[in-house]
Parts: sequence; C-alpha cells; structure tokens
Amino acid sequence: MKDPFEKIPYGRQYIDEADERAVLETLRSDFLTQGPAVERFERALADFTDATYATAVSNATAALHLACLAADLGPGDVLWTSPNTFVASANCGRYCGATVDFVDVDPVTYNLRAESLREKLVEARRTGRLPKVVVVVHFSGQSCDMKEIGALALEYGFTLIEDASHAIGGSYQGSKVGSCAYSDMTVFSFHPVKIVTTCEGGAITTRSKELHSRLARLRSHGITRSPELMRRKPEGPAGWYYEQIDLGFNYRLSDLHAALGISQLGKIELFIERRHALADRYDRLLGELPLILPRRIEDRRSSLHLYVVQVDPDRTRRTRAEIYERMRAASIEVNVHYIPVHTQPYYRDLGFRDGQFPVAETYYSRALTLPLFYSMSDSDQDRVVSTLRSAFA
Ligand SMILES: *Cc1c(COP(=O)(O)O)cnc(C)c1O
Repeated sequence: MKDPFEKIPYGRQYIDEADERAVLETLRSDFLTQGPAVERFERALADFTDATYATAVSNATAALHLACLAADLGPGDVLWTSPNTFVASANCGRYCGATVDFVDVDPVTYNLRAESLREKLVEARRTGRLPKVVVVVHFSGQSCDMKEIGALALEYGFTLIEDASHAIGGSYQGSKVGSCAYSDMTVFSFHPVKIVTTCEGGAITTRSKELHSRLARLRSHGITRSPELMRRKPEGPAGWYYEQIDLGFNYRLSDLHAALGISQLGKIELFIERRHALADRYDRLLGELPLILPRRIEDRRSSLHLYVVQVDPDRTRRTRAEIYERMRAASIEVNVHYIPVHTQPYYRDLGFRDGQFPVAETYYSRALTLPLFYSMSDSDQDRVVSTLRSAFA
C-alpha cells in the first residue's frame, strides 16, 4: 500500500533510462565540457522553438545576464520587468549596473500587463527615463500578450527579452514561445522543477545573427576565434591565436548536461500533455472550493509549469497561511509563487515600497501553488484535493 504520508512535492523532474544512457554515453566520450552535445542541443532547441539560433548556458540566470549585456544594457540605463517573478528576472539588470523598475501584472493572467506597460512608457517618455530593456515573464508557462508588447517595443525602441523559464513548449497565437516572433531574445531554464531539465542549465534563443554571435562570445570570456572579428592579424598557424574582444564570463553548459537536455526534449510533448490532463482534473475537482482557479487563455498554449490557485477572501474566512500549513502538515508541499520582487529587502534598500504594484501584491497575499509534475498520479492528485477540502471544512 502507498504511504499516505509520502511527500508530494510541488514539482519534480522525470528521468528515465534513455536519459541515463545519454549522459553515460557522453561521459565515456572525448568531450565533457562544451562540445558536440552542446551544439546538438542548441540545434534541437532552435528547431523546437522555431528560432534561428540557440545559445546554451550554465543556467537561466546567466542567460538573462548575457541577454542584457548583448542588449548593451549598462550603468545609467533602465530595465523593467514584472514584480511577479523569481528575483533573477530583475537581478540581471542590476548585474549590468542598470536601474531596475517594475510594471504591475494583469489580475487574470498574473503576467506583466500590456496596458500598464503602455501607461508607464507614456509617462517615462515625458520624464526622459525610457527603459532600454524590458523583460517579460511568461508566468506559470502562459505567454504574455506578445503582439501588444512587441508593438510597444518597436514604438518605444527598447530591447524585448522574454523570460520563458516556465514556458518552453508553450505557444502564442500559433507561434512557439522562443521563436522570438515579437521579441529580440527568449531565455529558458532547465532547472529540475521546470518543464525539461539539464540539472542546471539555460539557453537564449534569437533570430538575430549579431545577438547570437555576441551571446556565444560573452558565454566564453569574450574570446573570439573568427578572423573577421579580430583587431589584429592572426598570429601563427590556425587554431593557436584567439582574441579577447569583450569582457565575458565562463557561463558554458557541459556536454553531460546537454546530452540530458537533448534526451529530455524528446519527451516534452508527453510532459506537457500530462500537465494539461492534471490541470483539467484540478479545474474539475476544485470547482466547489473557495478558490480562484487559474485561467487559460484561448489563443495560447501554456506549458503549465505551475498550477496556482488563490484563496478567495470573499468566500472563506480561512487564510492562505492556514491552508498552506494544513497542506504541509499532510506532507503536501504546496508553495507560493512569487513574493513580489520589489518587496525583497535588497529592492527596498533601492527605494521600493509596499503598495507600488498593488495587483501583484494582492495576488501574492492569496496565492498557493499546488503540486503539478509529469509523474504525479491521479491518486496523488486526489490526495491533494481531499486534503484541500478538509483544510477548508
Ligand atoms: C527558475 C527561474 C529563473 C532562474 O533559472 P535558473 O536556471 O535557476 O537560473 C529565472 N526566471 C524565472 C521566471 C524562473 O522561474
């Protein structure tokens, strides 16, 4: 019999024998660091997302940093992002010495709201503080309104970066997330809780040859081996001479990680279909409870990284904290995504205050992330639902 107190996490990776074989084969090959598997992974990612280029890196935080550098973000510049995200979407601006600000979210999708962005841009043009970069976040795997936001990028001249850490495999009005149909670059995370994993890992997709070449160079110390980019005539025989022409980093992904990524990418449709089946089931089973359920918008396909409900204060006296504790006490590891970034002490020290982004703050006060992952069984899910029912009783 199944242990009724067995932990149910909010997310977890799924690794099969094919994944193990892929990693082992690479471990026994000539390349361990960035080599042919990374190249194959990049090709697979670009093909899968309908982008032209993909650059694999050590994690999505590094990917965001490089994307900002490739956009020439620096001291004196401004980056805007959503307050409802992981801190990395904002920190990338700070790594470059830029000023960071936020645009409040939509009350239905919890994504950065295009209309709020427009209003803030009008105001920023008046005061001469337009952003150089805007990072939109496809929260829970559901795309932002890219057509509207892409049009604003062209009108106001900012570089548009999609933080699609939650959203690989999603689509928007028929275009794949990562295709960069409306943006300059898209960032993915392959952390184990995300849709597909490389253990640690990330990538940036783009349609721009120029951005791709900068990203690839910055990933590896700012070094080039392309004679056309060199300042001096190559010295000595081919292969010996290189030039460092920018200040880059070691943000490379290893071939072991990439081999796992290629293998995982082969299962992505299965992963997302199961997530949809589980989300549909949650929708049906939770209908009677005093919860605001997540809305899936018709013209886009979410990859359903997260299933987030809100405890509805109009229909229950129970608080989110009470429900959270009851669930945790029953070994169901619910979570909360996200504490609004501007309320973090580091950002408070930069001058941000409670009340500045009220939609994100109200959403946060009620939000609860329920377990959702590929290998979750129907009976795991039934246990989550019945525990929730008794928590509200
Ligand atoms: C997970 C995540 C990141 C960071 O990903 P890492 O690969 O762990 O660096 C960035 N942004 C968002 C929205 C995330 O969910």
